[in-house]
Amino acid sequence: MAQGTTTELWTEDRMSHVHEIRTAEEALTRLKEGNARFVSGQARFPTVHKEVLAELAKRQRPYATILGCSDSRVPPELVFDAAFGELFIIRVAGNVLGESINGTLQYASTHLHTPLFVVLGHEGCGAVEAALAEKFHGARHRSRIATLLENIVPALESIDPTLPPEALLSAAVEANVRRTIREVLESPEAKARMAEGGVMVIGAVYDLVTGRVRFLEPDSLGRSVPPMV
Ligand SMILES: [Zn+2]
Repeated sequence: MAQGTTTELWTEDRMSHVHEIRTAEEALTRLKEGNARFVSGQARFPTVHKEVLAELAKRQRPYATILGCSDSRVPPELVFDAAFGELFIIRVAGNVLGESINGTLQYASTHLHTPLFVVLGHEGCGAVEAALAEKFHGARHRSRIATLLENIVPALESIDPTLPPEALLSAAVEANVRRTIREVLESPEAKARMAEGGVMVIGAVYDLVTGRVRFLEPDSLGRSVPPMV
């Protein structure tokens, strides 16, 4: 499919319907229709041949593990224009760690041996914004959301609350990515893997407006991690 055709379909066809979906049933129907198109080779986006699927069914060898946010506007495969089998992806609100996520990372490291680990935050992150509201404005959240935010609030220690709102959120997003990276690197497993060499752990922030991913320079605790870009 030509690039121009894909863009045209996206803007004129898909986008015109996105805001019309209001109910769970409609959303489910959309997912089913999308899957049916995929299976029949009628996908609107670059699809994969059945031979490729059959090959991937035997084993996966993703080249990168990405810990990103659940935000619907930051789909890693699309953001990185990656195909099936290329990215091992974990998505959780606020791209934070947790028991299951740590286990998934360990699986990626020890079984899939992905050489690259990316913690992908994004501008305008609602989870980080909620953590800011809790820390600086005393906002209270429902219990499980509060538990989630406990993973983000500590990242905001050095954030200057007098910054303008947009700059404040941007600084918090980056601080949250850096904290997640530090936590990953401080685990015994990560230290051992880093010592072996050939592994990179890096942070990145996705810009919702431009679609651009900005890879972060490593901070002092991540000094063994070379910058990617
Ligand atoms: Zn987010």
